[in-house]
Amino acid sequence: MSELLELTATELLKEFHKGQFGAVELVNACLEQIRRYDGQIGAFLRVDAQGALAQAAQIDRRRHAREPLGPLAGIPVAIKDNLCTQGVPTTCASRMLADFRPPYDATVIQRLKAADAILLGRTNMDEFAMGGSTENSAFQKTRNPWDLERIPGGSSGGSAACVAARMTPLSVGTDTGGSIRQPAALCGVVGLKPTYGRVSRYGLVAFASSLDQIGPLARSVEDAALVLEVLAGHDPKDSTSVPKPVPPYSKTVGQPLPQLRIGIVPEHYSAGLDAEVGQAIQEAIKVYQSLGATIREVHLPHSKYAVADYYIIAPCEASSNLARYDGVHYGYRTPEQQMRAQLEAEQAALRRAGNQAALEELDTPLVRMFRQSRSEGFGPEVKRRIMLGTYALSAGYYEAYYLKALKVRRLIRQDFDRAFEEVDIILGPVTPSPAFRLGEKINDPLAMYLFDLYTVVTNLAGICGISIPCGFSREGLPIGLHLQAPAFEEERLLRAAWMFQQATDWHHRRPPLENLVAPGA
Ligand code: GLN
Repeated sequence: MSELLELTATELLKEFHKGQFGAVELVNACLEQIRRYDGQIGAFLRVDAQGALAQAAQIDRRRHAREPLGPLAGIPVAIKDNLCTQGVPTTCASRMLADFRPPYDATVIQRLKAADAILLGRTNMDEFAMGGSTENSAFQKTRNPWDLERIPGGSSGGSAACVAARMTPLSVGTDTGGSIRQPAALCGVVGLKPTYGRVSRYGLVAFASSLDQIGPLARSVEDAALVLEVLAGHDPKDSTSVPKPVPPYSKTVGQPLPQLRIGIVPEHYSAGLDAEVGQAIQEAIKVYQSLGATIREVHLPHSKYAVADYYIIAPCEASSNLARYDGVHYGYRTPEQQMRAQLEAEQAALRRAGNQAALEELDTPLVRMFRQSRSEGFGPEVKRRIMLGTYALSAGYYEAYYLKALKVRRLIRQDFDRAFEEVDIILGPVTPSPAFRLGEKINDPLAMYLFDLYTVVTNLAGICGISIPCGFSREGLPIGLHLQAPAFEEERLLRAAWMFQQATDWHHRRPPLENLVAPGA
């Protein structure tokens, strides 16, 4: 494996500007790593080797000519497949969008391009970002680089696995209820969910618009700071993005916070928490104490409703967002001739049988086309969410479910507001256990949803959160530490995370890739 692949983006940039290596060399090293290992890991849906090499060659030329270069010059980045990129398939890992090539770039893609990052490929995900294991992808499974029998987490599972397996130093994911932090935790990398409104959502294929955020996955806190600085900022194309200045995260990240006050939530340590994860969190608390932080208990009494709350609000918004995929406005359309022929055959049979009532019940060709396109285009989890959301939004249930859920959401937010009067950061687990086995929960949606216990609150409250590596289970599976900070306090969040990183070496561990037999190697 090329030594370049062991370096973080921050380290690579230093060496690159000193002329120690070229962007083409780095891209080739990443491509070689992908060739060796991605057949088994399955992080990428598509790799754009040609485009990346061309872009790298151009960056090398510009560096030789001493032209100004952007802050991510020459660094390969992998992109979750729900971020629109002009002319590049953007499938959301759904049959519904298998042929979709957006005519425009998402704002984050524009920003990455302007920063001279190299867009190396598109990563696998749960279909439309609905899920926590990447098993809901319509196209392929992604495996955890630490143990191929385990899930990488989700929904940004491809983005986390590719960074953990040293295929790219950086990736971008999205987090609606944990989809950056959870796979980051399970794959042993850093994942940051920014505050709602910090990063423009323009060009992100919407799942739940009031919860979705885009953020970085990386192998160090400095790298997460660097990417956030590129992604963040107001965008007139997203009315929910906030016109606040973006602090120079990459400059301040290495400044420890004096007198840091950390809150821990006793409710987090209930029977549902895996003992080894609980142990790793206790050790992390001791690390912070040794760094001079004070620890105190805070209470988030409404967080016990968070999973139920999230699984009403997110499906409601999803059912509304996904209504546009009808085979006409957007997305997959069922083969029409076949559909019509079948309908006509049914009509003829009913006419022959003289069954006028059933004949009148039959869909018109247009309705049949909608119905069939949607049932063939969406996978089972997406359908489940659409049904849940449609039910909760329908007349008579709206007040009982959706409106009530919004009220609970407000209470959850108020709990955090109160807690943050007393502490600077809230610390806890990211997931109730390390990565589970492929297939283990796929037929048990409730178990799958409960796995989101610790992460959905951040999105419901609209604040920011990060997962950083904080240990390993006896079986060698990574464990993540969750830090949360108030809205728009990413700078504090990153500095607190960096303090822990400095005092530990969990982020230097790497998955036992040598054990994977490279096909043809
Ligand atoms: N696991 C959660 C869900 O299934 C979160 C997904 C996400 O953050 N996109 O909805």
